[in-house]
Amino acid sequence: MAKQDTTEILDEILARVKAIDPVNTRKWFDDLHITAFDHGLMQIGCPEQSCAEFLQDHCLTTFTQAAQNITGHLVSVQFMDMGDQPAAGITAIAEKTGRFRLHPDYTFNSFVVGPCNRLAHASCIAISQSPGMIYNPLFLYGNVGLGKTHLLHAVCHDACKQNPDISIQFLSCEEFINGFISAIEKGNVQEFQNLYRTVDVLIIDDVQFLREREQSQEEFFHTFNALYNNRRQIVLTSDSAPQDLAKLEDRLISRFKWGLVARLDAPSYETRIAIIKKKAHLRGLELPDGVAELIAEHIKTNIRELEGALTIIYATAQTTNQSITLELARQALGVQEVTLSKNVTLSDIIRMVSDHFDVRITDLQSKKRSQSIALPRQICMYLARNLTRHSLEEIGGHLGGRDHSTVVHACSKIEHLYKSDTDFRDRIDKLSTHVMQSA
Ligand code: ADP
Ligand code: MG
Repeated sequence: MAKQDTTEILDEILARVKAIDPVNTRKWFDDLHITAFDHGLMQIGCPEQSCAEFLQDHCLTTFTQAAQNITGHLVSVQFMDMGDQPAAGITAIAEKTGRFRLHPDYTFNSFVVGPCNRLAHASCIAISQSPGMIYNPLFLYGNVGLGKTHLLHAVCHDACKQNPDISIQFLSCEEFINGFISAIEKGNVQEFQNLYRTVDVLIIDDVQFLREREQSQEEFFHTFNALYNNRRQIVLTSDSAPQDLAKLEDRLISRFKWGLVARLDAPSYETRIAIIKKKAHLRGLELPDGVAELIAEHIKTNIRELEGALTIIYATAQTTNQSITLELARQALGVQEVTLSKNVTLSDIIRMVSDHFDVRITDLQSKKRSQSIALPRQICMYLARNLTRHSLEEIGGHLGGRDHSTVVHACSKIEHLYKSDTDFRDRIDKLSTHVMQSA
């Protein structure tokens, strides 16, 4: 079949896949190409091995259906890695990283660096360039959804690129424990030990699960020593700092602190916006102005939820056949429903702000212009705009007989402060929560 034809067929397939399965669509789908199409077998070449595996795991059915609909024939689809090997079998990287498949989204490139994760990111880059030489072990910790597992995948991607012959074992702590238990049952503990004690890099995710597993701790202790003494890289993650891992043996805790311990914190407002934009870009999505800001204002602690919000917005747009707008995003996230359903009134807001700033209600509703009154009054306007359905005129009318342009000005001033000043933002967030709770 002519190249022209296969390009057209693939374009049509991709358009259909994008419509059926927006959640799994990625920008790099544009780099796919049909390498062969013969006797009902369509082979699709991928830019990276992990991409072929991702497609095999998440998109095989959609691609197959789309290919059949478009060609009108029974087609089986195979995703090929860079060496033109099908992704289905155990591939070189899959072998190197144990049974673990690397996620193509989780690279250093797609990781947004901010004050919350700078050290963790820099140390992961350093160890992927010279494993075993700099920080050993590297211990990353932080709450759920802050990017620990993402960084581990990125280390594997990079280390494999730097040195294609490197041997890596990357597994969750539970897999380590279960593997050990099954090795005992099957009587092949020696084999288990050889597997983990001889690699160049051992990565174990979520080591907090070693708590209360005495025998596994003992095994892990010896694995750790063997690797450490041979200057092999060890990377661990956990939900808490080594010293806070209660019920873990002291000798393990002290070893965790031998190298570098790096904490991941919740991202700031700016970092959240950058992450949302990066994720949207990865999926080939255009976000209109204000949508990333809307998501970042409402989801503050867990990055996985930021992505979830993006998915909901995207899926809502697809299913209702609309393009993404700020209004659609608001509806999709239920932002308006959540806040407005509480029936917040202007008087609630004025009362709360008066308490919070210790100014009189009558002053807020007067024409006085002193700074100590003007700022709380502007905050009232901002909150009323966000939490009630009152018009600009009504809001202005209640707050000293101002016209609508004064309210617009107040809202944009407070919004600017909200975005640029963390303390101020916290204060406003608390106030909004209070108002909603008391309504
Ligand atoms: P953890 O292992 O800490 O629970 P994950 O690594 O699973 O968290 O991250 C959850 C989601 O958030 C993933 O989709 C990941 O890509 C994303 N994520 C976390 N931090 C960042 C970041 N700094 N930049 C981009 N995406 C991030
Ligand atoms: Mg994780």
